[in-house]
Amino acid sequence: MAKLVSLRTCIGCQAKKEKKNFIRVVLDKKGELSVDANQRQLGRGAYLCKMKDKNFLDQNCLQKALAKNSFNYAFRKKITNKKFTPTSSCGDSGTC
Ligand SMILES: [Zn+2]
Repeated sequence: MAKLVSLRTCIGCQAKKEKKNFIRVVLDKKGELSVDANQRQLGRGAYLCKMKDKNFLDQNCLQKALAKNSFNYAFRKKITNKKFTPTSSCGDSGTC
């Protein structure tokens, strides 16, 4: 029996993968998109592919998601501010 894993879907390329292969994106208080580095922020989150060997999201998936307005669906509201704030502390620490 294969181990049961809950899969998440990338809102950019629609790939289904394990959660650890994604970067979680949330809406911050100002209504801006930001990376949930610790995956602990409350509220609705959207998942985007993580770049290979990097703890940051795949820019292609981000662009696709923005182009398709996928964030609007993910957060059930219109995202007017499409400025993306990479507040990620990911990287050297590798704690994404
Ligand atoms: Zn993707």
